[in-house]
Amino acid sequence: MTVLSNRIVLITGAGDGIGKAMALAAAASGATVILLGRTTSKLEAVYDEIVDAGHPEPGIVPMDLLRAGVEDVTALAEVIETNYGRLDCLLHNASILGERVPFENYSLSEWEQVMQVNLSAVVLLTRLLLPLLQKSDDARLLFTSSSVGETPRAYWGAYAVSKYGMEGFAKLLAEELENTSKIRVNIINPGATRTTMRAAAYPTEDPRDLKTPADLVPLYLHLMGPGGRAEHGRTFTSAWLD
Ligand code: NDP
Repeated sequence: MTVLSNRIVLITGAGDGIGKAMALAAAASGATVILLGRTTSKLEAVYDEIVDAGHPEPGIVPMDLLRAGVEDVTALAEVIETNYGRLDCLLHNASILGERVPFENYSLSEWEQVMQVNLSAVVLLTRLLLPLLQKSDDARLLFTSSSVGETPRAYWGAYAVSKYGMEGFAKLLAEELENTSKIRVNIINPGATRTTMRAAAYPTEDPRDLKTPADLVPLYLHLMGPGGRAEHGRTFTSAWLD
């Protein structure tokens, strides 16, 4: 498969779950993938899997989005500029769940952390990597949301609010960039998927009843690749796969 050949794709949270599956799939489709995540050993395992399979050598960016600031992301942008000259796709995938309790019991420090990783870091990365996306002839900006981001749900606290805010940010950018750039902006709601986060959210569920991250690959590759050129300002769910 070469549908993504010569494309430079940055994926956050690329060491596990959906992000890992998309990193492996994008690399297998010819992309040079920049693997960003907080656990270096997990990123290295994905790196090894990609290289051992003979796909384009990925980049590794150990970065904790809870702590990353302007200087860190500016440095990352400079490295990408030096090594690749542009960015063709930024997939915002990393996020944390936080607690699911009544708001009156929600820990304020945890609220801040969830908002930082799931929303503020998304804004920071987008703001500082946008110039590199502008350098691509055919760029994609993809945001990963959730059903509780479209319609916030009781007890889902900062996770729901962060995803709701992120969807607003994505829609704002879609409108701003539609006629002023070649960047196509879309939201993906992957729906119930067999990952660590899902197991934490629904501990009594049988994971074997859920689709796997690999099942989502055609949707993500569609949006990263040539098919995604015609998609803009939309929210995609796994129903697209049916
Ligand atoms: P996982 O928890 O399996 O993976 C999340 C990834 O994000 C991990 O690689 C994790 O790193 C990384 N990450 C978390 N915090 C940070 C941080 N501070 N800095 C850098 N990286 C971080 O989640 P999923 O794969 O399930 O979720 C992927 C996306 O899909 C998320 O945005 C989630 O909200 C969304 N989603 C998932 C659904 C599902 O059913 N799975 C349903 C709806 C939406 P590490 O491995 O080191 O912890």
